[in-house]
Amino acid sequence: MTTSPANAYPYRLRLPGPIAIPERIRQATARPIVNHRGPEMRAVLGEIQQLIRPLFGTNGPVLTFGTSGTGVMEASLVNVLAPGEKVLALAHGQFGDRYVQIARALGAEVDVIESEWGWAPDPAIVADRLAKADYRAVITVHNESSTGAVTDLAAIGALLRQRDTLFLVDSISGLGGMELRQDAWGVDIVVTGSQKALMCPPGLAFASVSDKARAVIMREDRCPRFYLDMRKALAGVDANETAFTCPVSLLFGMQEALRIIHEEGLPQVFARHERLSRALRAGCVALGLPAFGDPACASRTVVVASVPEPLTAGAIVKHMYETYNTVVAGARNKLNGRVLRIGTMGQISEADILSDLHYLELSLRALGHPVPSQGCGVAAAIAALA
Ligand SMILES: *Cc1c(COP(=O)(O)O)cnc(C)c1O
Repeated sequence: MTTSPANAYPYRLRLPGPIAIPERIRQATARPIVNHRGPEMRAVLGEIQQLIRPLFGTNGPVLTFGTSGTGVMEASLVNVLAPGEKVLALAHGQFGDRYVQIARALGAEVDVIESEWGWAPDPAIVADRLAKADYRAVITVHNESSTGAVTDLAAIGALLRQRDTLFLVDSISGLGGMELRQDAWGVDIVVTGSQKALMCPPGLAFASVSDKARAVIMREDRCPRFYLDMRKALAGVDANETAFTCPVSLLFGMQEALRIIHEEGLPQVFARHERLSRALRAGCVALGLPAFGDPACASRTVVVASVPEPLTAGAIVKHMYETYNTVVAGARNKLNGRVLRIGTMGQISEADILSDLHYLELSLRALGHPVPSQGCGVAAAIAALA
């Protein structure tokens, strides 16, 4: 340890992922290891398969991979592309840029529709581009964690239904915290990771596959692939087996996380994320940190607040950590210094966001930022919750 933040304060992990793990889930991950191909593990994988499909909004198979989220972003591309094929990328933030980088690394010819950071891709521009060229796939990010903008997947999916083009979506920070209806919206592959709204430790990831995507995945002429080969994963999915040794402990955690989500009820989980994100955003605005981006497409799993000059997000992050043992995020991209990001995903409550706002106010004051009145952030959040 190089720093020792105020010992009087409990450690509060308030990032937009990884997030704090509920105790029930943490304990599940500590269970004894079982045979990764035995009946105990097949029962776990089978239950996860049944419980996770409603979060994707699909009746199709959901594949399990031992990787971080970026690994399944790559899996979604390496299984459907051949080098030289065309991809249309809708990029509006750091993770959309990463999707572009992966596609280019695999040899795809990538056209990018870049929308302003904080705003969602415009389906009309996508329709226009689709009329001019044929693409193997359209790729985008459902919930752009770097800016807090949510993409209208239904509108874009509707443009692709009658085409051969596949629709690939990164919902790593969205799935489990906000509605996703893969089958109804015409999404072909959705990828997600364990450490965001799914409330588990990092290192486990999932990818769902439509029939339309499966037909392309099964072709022999795709990119060279081995560990992330979805043909291998699909071969075992009905038998509740993974191609390689699965992350047993993380899957114990995921089984418990999904049980918790369904005990609360999916609509209730989504409503809680919506309500708490809205209240935290209102609190930040009251403290003089305006919401970043287009309010019409604001995320429910992350609150992104603008930081007015001469203040910097880095100074707030440092003060929140060193003084209140509370970990929030800045940006590691062109918004560096200018936005503060706080996660509103997982098993959080009103108490969590009110604590965030209380410590944020104290930090802002300590850094010389004029706060309109004492407690105004907390008050605005309470008003929004009422
Ligand atoms: C967190 C995140 C990722 C990256 O996932 P890793 O687990 O760090 O590889 C990708 N996309 C989005 C939208 C994310 O929020």
